[in-house]
Amino acid sequence: MPPRLIGHSAIRSQLAKRFETQTLAKTLLFQGPDSIGKKLVALELAQKDLCEKKTGCGTCEACRLYLQTNFIDTPPPNLLFIAPEGKAGQIKVESLRHAHSLEGGIFEWLGTSLGSSLHKFVIIDDAHQLNSTSGNMLLKLLEEPPKNVYFILITHRPEAMLPTIKSRCERVVLSPLGSNEIEQIALSQSWDRGEIMTMLSLANGTCRYIDSERYDRVHLQMNTWLKILEGKGDLRDIDNLLEQKKQDEDTASNLWLRESLELLLSIVNDVKRIQDDAEPRLLFYADRLRIISEREIPLRQLEEKLFDALRHVDRNPSAIMVLQEIAFLMP
Ligand SMILES: [Zn+2]
Repeated sequence: MPPRLIGHSAIRSQLAKRFETQTLAKTLLFQGPDSIGKKLVALELAQKDLCEKKTGCGTCEACRLYLQTNFIDTPPPNLLFIAPEGKAGQIKVESLRHAHSLEGGIFEWLGTSLGSSLHKFVIIDDAHQLNSTSGNMLLKLLEEPPKNVYFILITHRPEAMLPTIKSRCERVVLSPLGSNEIEQIALSQSWDRGEIMTMLSLANGTCRYIDSERYDRVHLQMNTWLKILEGKGDLRDIDNLLEQKKQDEDTASNLWLRESLELLLSIVNDVKRIQDDAEPRLLFYADRLRIISEREIPLRQLEEKLFDALRHVDRNPSAIMVLQEIAFLMP
């Protein structure tokens, strides 16, 4: 069962209205930060279409069946869900060719009939991970979309998408969630109230760290970077970070490195904030950040190095080299 959708009410009602009045574009690009519920907003449209009352009521027979399905392995009949696979984290052409375990993949699925009143939804998660072959295959479909089919592409990195694909889509921009919304979601997943504040200060308006394993991992990473910035760490700490990377089998290699670099960047930004007499965002780590802000750290150089590493992270550079180079900049 998909997690509960909270937030984005204005966009959701706008989309529903345009869907009902058949004025919604057939190719959409949902963009906005990672882990804010973009996928759930897309899935809600597919549920509404199946719903007997067309509202996504959650109680009619069709909704109940919809909510029982796992939208990846045993998806509802009107839905084709495509997402990156494997450690490389790409959407390969095979993912389109073998979608739904049909011989003809997406093409065969699009060719089958659901009855005249229903629509089909092709939802492509992390669409920036399409490579040039799969991207071009999709582009052909987007150029002449079959009748009654909605394509919803989802991304938190629109800048990394093929411009030709982007230009075919109407953009729907989703904003970060409010703290109270993230709190509601965390409480519904049995989070301890005391821990939620810490998670919120790391989450930046997203549900990125609501998964407890991910939350533990981010703490370890933060601690490592803070320790190095405090002058108490050494290269063994980088080895420990890489050991975590090995254990994290679910995250694609470049995504792991991106996250680690972004965390360090958020620390650097906070240290600068403290030096400018502003409050740090990472409140939970405020005391340690204050100590770091008094040390002589080449922040600008560190920042430039981080931006540079982030720009190249998708070329799958060696994580150990990148992290060591960065660690060398710290006193
Ligand atoms: Zn319903």
